[in-house]
Amino acid sequence: MSAYEIVHHEYDAIVVGAGGAGLRATLGLAEAGLKTANITKLFPTRSHTVAAQGGISAALANMGRDDWRWHFYDTVKGSDWLGDQDAIQYMTREAIPAIIELEHYGVPFSRTPEGKIYQRPFGGMTTEFGKGPPAQRTCAAADRTGHAMLHTLYQQSLKCKAQFYIEYFALDLLMDDDGSCKGVLAWDMATGQLHRFRAHLVILATGGYGRAYFSATSAHTCTGDGGGMVLRAGLPLQDLEFVQFHPTGIYGSGCLITEGARGEGGYLTNKSGERFMERYAPSVKDLAPRDMVSRAMATEIREGRGVGEEGDHIHLHLEHLGPEVLHQRLPGISESAKIFAGVDVTKEPIPVVPTVHYNMGGIPTLWTGEVVTKRDGNPDSIVQGLMAVGEAACVSVHGANRLGSNSLLDLVVFGRAAAIRAAELVKPDTPHKKISSASEDKALTRLDRFRNARGGTPTAKIRLDMQKTMQKHCAVFRDGPTMQEGIIKLKSVIDNYVQDVGVSDRGMIWNSDLVETLELDNLLGQALLTIVGAENRKESRGAHARDDIKDRDDKEWIKHTIAWRTGDTDVQIDYRPVHMQPLDNEVEHIPPVARKY
Ligand SMILES: Cc1cc2nc3c(=O)[nH]c(=O)nc-3n(C[C@H](O)[C@H](O)[C@H](O)COP(=O)(O)OP(=O)(O)OC[C@H]3O[C@@H](n4cnc5c(N)ncnc54)[C@H](O)[C@@H]3O)c2cc1C
Repeated sequence: MSAYEIVHHEYDAIVVGAGGAGLRATLGLAEAGLKTANITKLFPTRSHTVAAQGGISAALANMGRDDWRWHFYDTVKGSDWLGDQDAIQYMTREAIPAIIELEHYGVPFSRTPEGKIYQRPFGGMTTEFGKGPPAQRTCAAADRTGHAMLHTLYQQSLKCKAQFYIEYFALDLLMDDDGSCKGVLAWDMATGQLHRFRAHLVILATGGYGRAYFSATSAHTCTGDGGGMVLRAGLPLQDLEFVQFHPTGIYGSGCLITEGARGEGGYLTNKSGERFMERYAPSVKDLAPRDMVSRAMATEIREGRGVGEEGDHIHLHLEHLGPEVLHQRLPGISESAKIFAGVDVTKEPIPVVPTVHYNMGGIPTLWTGEVVTKRDGNPDSIVQGLMAVGEAACVSVHGANRLGSNSLLDLVVFGRAAAIRAAELVKPDTPHKKISSASEDKALTRLDRFRNARGGTPTAKIRLDMQKTMQKHCAVFRDGPTMQEGIIKLKSVIDNYVQDVGVSDRGMIWNSDLVETLELDNLLGQALLTIVGAENRKESRGAHARDDIKDRDDKEWIKHTIAWRTGDTDVQIDYRPVHMQPLDNEVEHIPPVARKY
């Protein structure tokens, strides 16, 4: 394949992605003296981490009694016992030094009157192993925590002389014949040139794939590119059936409307103007827990009582609260509704829909960041040269359900852990041996094929078909027949993509048509694994709530799903055991019990 001239680079280590996870890893690698490059399709501070508002958890005990062991307990319980307890122990214990370190790097945390880091309460965070009052554990920089973290970590990485390749789109992993990862092939979107990055270690930090769904709070750039590259390298992804939904995202844009809107007296209605929550939760009504409200909304839509032309959303009313309350208590929401729904909340309802918020599943790793696969019966067989961190990875600390403020923590703790492990594995300036050209040839063939795709269906149409299928058939609640129908539909969407996608721009410079087509390819694989994995898991656990099988089944299903994409529409499923034992005796393993709050 010589149609493309390829610029060659050699590094000790490469990070793909410059969100919170990628930047923390990059900083650690550069500090350890490794020659490090970061490849990112977005300018670092535009990564989705910038949108995180609420904060980052750590048992600092700045504003009340706290203990990282309580944080450990809460996270295991929050995961509905699907989280790996060794990784959860590592994360909750290391949270404390990791946050102090962030503070020293310069993150401008909000302060208590005595000058300590300010901490607020968050869902599921308790004291005394769930028996005490709520913990104040979530550290915040006002409502711009992710923004503050990104800027700090980017500046620190530059200070340590990490090299950034910005607006470079990583296409595929370069794998050698022995199954190890040896680098990445990337496309400089501004010049149109291709670049081969050889490295002894590649760390994927490419974020989630929220955009597989129609309505997501995540950015349009959250297309699971790392997961797509891993699947094409013949490796599995883990637990994709666990997708976290928030009840009230704005219809269309997916922008989040806080639960506080209902706390102030807002309520939901269907197409007949009925306050349907009275039927589902007679006592607490619109203030039922998130999963219950999301499920009730989805039922109304599925049974034909949704609002709008396509009957696919619900109304959230705030107009009865009056302009004064809205202005005083919900100014941010009022502004978001105006910008993203064109709605004046003092006069009309906001169109909302349960909205995808986070992917618990991803690239399976150990707590060291090393990617694993199941080989020769070994479920923890390490893929040499490859690591994954952040939302792209499944460590798994969030199991079946993530607690708020544990994701930003996951980014920094495991970004740091991966860099520490990398420094043990890679000696600076080790020469690079010649590798098989097979994976590069494959990557170029794929690029060429999409660049010259002359089919009749535009990428945007296929993407919408995928998103609507996922939103309808693998939503907040699921059942066998709905998912089986969804799998058939999604497979035909994929067939249409393979046979008939059309790209109109053949250039290499700022070809956003091609970028979106490559991103869609990544999304389609993960959408398929999500719905097939969900249909396959015959229980309800955490975010995976089945209408037809309502109970958790600890005898059969305390295990991670791992799935390979073996053909365009073919999936092979296997399992990895959940690590039920902690790392050491500083904590005791938490046996599964019913999850009640
Ligand atoms: C609206 C919103 C609010 C949230 N609030 C909170 C909160 O308060 N607390 C909390 O704990 N969590 C929160 N979360 C979750 C958390 O913010 C995310 O899980 C986390 O920021 C993901 O970080 P990341 O580093 O893994 O990926 P991202 O921040 O998504 O970054 C991905 C990076 O990968 C790069 N990339 C991707 N594909 C490619 C490619 N092909 N080539 C090159 N580069 C590529 C991108 O350029 C980007 O730099 C929130 C999420 C959302 C959507």
